[in-house]
Amino acid sequence: MRSNWSEGVEFLAGGRIGGGEGGVMAAKAAGNQMVPLAVLLKRELTSEKIEKPEILHGQASQRKKGEDFTLIKSDCQRIPGDGVTTFSVFALFDGHNGSAAAIYAKENLLNNILCAIPSDLSRDEWLAALPRALVAGFVKTDKDFQTKEHTSGTTVTFVIIDGRVVTVASVGDSLCILESAEGSIYYLSADHRLEVNEKEVERVTASGGEVGRLNIVGGVEIGPLRCWPGGLCLSRSIGDMDVGEFIVPIPHVKQVKLSNAGGRLIISSDGVWDALTFEMTLNCSRGLSADVAASQIVKEAVQVKGLRDDTTCIVVDILPLEKVTPTVPLPKRQGIGVFKHMFHRKSCESTSHSDGDYSEPDVVEEIYEEGSAMLAKRLEAEYPICNLFKLFICAVCQVEMKPGEGISVHAGLSQPGKLHPWDGPFLCQGCQEKKEAMEGKGPSRDYASRRSTGSE
Ligand SMILES: [Zn+2]
Repeated sequence: MRSNWSEGVEFLAGGRIGGGEGGVMAAKAAGNQMVPLAVLLKRELTSEKIEKPEILHGQASQRKKGEDFTLIKSDCQRIPGDGVTTFSVFALFDGHNGSAAAIYAKENLLNNILCAIPSDLSRDEWLAALPRALVAGFVKTDKDFQTKEHTSGTTVTFVIIDGRVVTVASVGDSLCILESAEGSIYYLSADHRLEVNEKEVERVTASGGEVGRLNIVGGVEIGPLRCWPGGLCLSRSIGDMDVGEFIVPIPHVKQVKLSNAGGRLIISSDGVWDALTFEMTLNCSRGLSADVAASQIVKEAVQVKGLRDDTTCIVVDILPLEKVTPTVPLPKRQGIGVFKHMFHRKSCESTSHSDGDYSEPDVVEEIYEEGSAMLAKRLEAEYPICNLFKLFICAVCQVEMKPGEGISVHAGLSQPGKLHPWDGPFLCQGCQEKKEAMEGKGPSRDYASRRSTGSE
């Protein structure tokens, strides 16, 4: 992206007139050529007056087992009661072996995420803290649910939209894709089916799991790759207390910033993705309003494969900011089916919002992406460090700990020592035990084998 900075400057200086805050600043910049770009960017980044694009959504579902659930909330507030700091949540939970885990996650996950974010953050700090809070919220929800002795599990695709910043946390195989206004397709979630995810097969195997297919008489292997004990096809989920603890709830998190031109998100359960490719999904719904599009996608999927599974789709349209008329030509529209991988991974993914973070017009900017299953790595945050590491609060479950009780996320249970704030974040005993179990270092569970039935 850096190679195109000069084009970006031209656009900033002369392009957007009369738009949101950015537009106003751009007009001022045109009158005073001496304002350095970095200063402009800094002003934009620190401004609390963020353009709020209009968001329209629709959802549709056809039930087979009744294990798909959705959560849609358009009125969440970063600062409760102020009515200004609003953000939207769109989440899909595809349960398996019953619906208890999906229902539990739907009812508790959002709150667990928000409780992991300190209350005194600016918008930029809040967005920077979000990936870490998502990890804490997913792990807490899983840990709490596992005390309930249910064996069901669920995928989660959790989308938070604040202004033009879209943050997606996912475990399992309910995927979320984005089609930007200029027609590029971006994958915002990970696919945690063992069948397609070699890295996860390696991780599961290294943590003591066995990966293979069902064996039928005569040594013939059938069906998708599963891991044992448990026989789950997924390597990550919430719930599933009767499978190996290497099936972790640590989400893949991706955060992007859309251009002013907006885009369309499609979040669907595997009932859709087993039947339709990404192109088919977008093609059959292009030009339709969000609610009609969601119905059309579900209808197409069921037509192709029949109703073999719960089939759910949420379509979210992030509309272009009003009165924005770019004067530079839009990038040439890509042919349908041409998938672009335009994201440039940064050397340090967790430090975002630096002066180098500049979004080109009409290009989706990647702010953050991390999919590691290592809790210590995921709870690290360089910014805003002083607000995030609290010596006596567990970084996962937020429980208050007595002095000397917390364990540094970097230490093992066997080596607790004197704690310093810079050793943080800290975990309570229970969360530390869960961390070790997820890394294959804990005592193994008493598993009930599901090898004969398997599970989706
Ligand atoms: Zn804890």
